[in-house]
Amino acid sequence: MSRRSMLVVGGGWAGIAAAVKATSSGWHVTMVEERPYLGGRARSFADKVTGDVIDNGQHVLMGCYSAMMSTLRAMGTDSLLHKQKALRVAFVDTSGRDVLDASQLPGKAGVALGLLRLSKLSRADLWPILRLAMAMQWGRATGHGLTCLELLQRYGQTERAIQRFWEPVVLATVNAPINMADASLLVTVMNRAFFGSGRDDSRIYIPADGLSALVEPFPSLLASHGGTVLCSTSVEHLSSDGTSVRATFSNGQDAVFDTAIVACQPPAVERLFPGLLPELVRTMEFSPIVSVYLWYDGAWCDVDFAATLGTTTQWVFNRRALGRTDPAIEKRFPGHVALTISAGSALVTRSQDDIVAACDAELRQLFPAMEGVRCLHGVVIKEKRATFLATPQVHPLRALVRGPFPNVEIVGDWTNTGLPATLEGAAYSGLKAVERLDRRE
Ligand SMILES: Cc1cc2nc3c(=O)[nH]c(=O)nc-3n(C[C@H](O)[C@H](O)[C@H](O)COP(=O)(O)OP(=O)(O)OC[C@H]3O[C@@H](n4cnc5c(N)ncnc54)[C@H](O)[C@@H]3O)c2cc1C
Repeated sequence: MSRRSMLVVGGGWAGIAAAVKATSSGWHVTMVEERPYLGGRARSFADKVTGDVIDNGQHVLMGCYSAMMSTLRAMGTDSLLHKQKALRVAFVDTSGRDVLDASQLPGKAGVALGLLRLSKLSRADLWPILRLAMAMQWGRATGHGLTCLELLQRYGQTERAIQRFWEPVVLATVNAPINMADASLLVTVMNRAFFGSGRDDSRIYIPADGLSALVEPFPSLLASHGGTVLCSTSVEHLSSDGTSVRATFSNGQDAVFDTAIVACQPPAVERLFPGLLPELVRTMEFSPIVSVYLWYDGAWCDVDFAATLGTTTQWVFNRRALGRTDPAIEKRFPGHVALTISAGSALVTRSQDDIVAACDAELRQLFPAMEGVRCLHGVVIKEKRATFLATPQVHPLRALVRGPFPNVEIVGDWTNTGLPATLEGAAYSGLKAVERLDRRE
């Protein structure tokens, strides 16, 4: 066993980011993941009918995702992202289209100008948006203890601004209904992403080849630094005497490490360390995301992606424009879109056929180019525990999550990151844990 050995339990993005960083600072890392694949809640697979690679739900990254981007750069997979040159988001409803285009000026000035140019919002809607954005930047609007709706009402946002701008942003970033979502997370998102200090912070990045491609080089990266990945294996027991960690794996193997990073969700942490998590953290509620993939016999989608307003569907992504597709598949299925419905509790009990038919019908109301185009195939993925439900009651409890021993850290998107449950939150928690363990050395 190497002097600086580390066990990482869980191969989601918190564990992957931790392992990549630890490897670069000299740790010999063993990663153990109970499923047969890496990526956790962010992974892709080939659709059996069409052969297209689809994600377990369309994921979006942003330019401000610095922890994720440094992890991807270390693996050489940041080039697999379709990167916008500047923030550009279309909003579509039955009355037509609006586009938030931030390309006219750099950074946050471009976002502000883009907002002011939204044609379906009047000055009476737009000025309060900018006033609130400034109050967030100056630290006057913190959102602490409030739901997003309470914060928006307190700062005089119009009904139209809430429906056409704030609600799509909250659903996409916090995955909770606007009247439940913690407002301090919205403030963080606005300050870091839309009005961040970096030029690229608000740019949207979308995995072009599927999420799993982003992690493909990971096992060889680890191996080249003396590490290893064990998939289809779980950690059943973990204990520490403060200087070394003893682990038992589901394959019966016992192993000893200098440190461990546990990168699992609360139920798995509770199984490893009964009684560690405070009751309210252990019993956190989760919020679903429903993703729908549709294939058509014609190419009808003329946007890269768009927020859809007044529909069950919230976002539509044109996979043929954003992904790299096998030409033979594209010939058979020229149209292919991914739809996202965050906080989608209302859909969880509906049948797949019903959801596909309802989403297809909604799209036809919004995109006249769909006339005469037939839907050939649909897939519905219901992630019932997509992210924890970030309410003002639950979000502050994340600060209570601590490792059980000085040489064992707990990480994951639900831990005390100050961010919504996202890839960036997961990766950030992993990097920070390695920094803490490095300082202990
Ligand atoms: C449908 C959907 C859409 C999303 N969209 C976005 C988006 O657009 N942008 C964004 O930033 N985020 C998005 N997210 C959130 C993002 O996917 C998560 O925040 C992130 O993947 C969480 O990573 P994690 O490592 O914290 O947890 P996980 O991915 O849950 O990883 C934990 C891992 O630990 C493993 N494990 C558990 N117990 C053990 C054990 N005892 N031994 C070994 N292994 C174990 C699990 O199998 C799992 O692989 C979305 C999530 C979903 C579900």
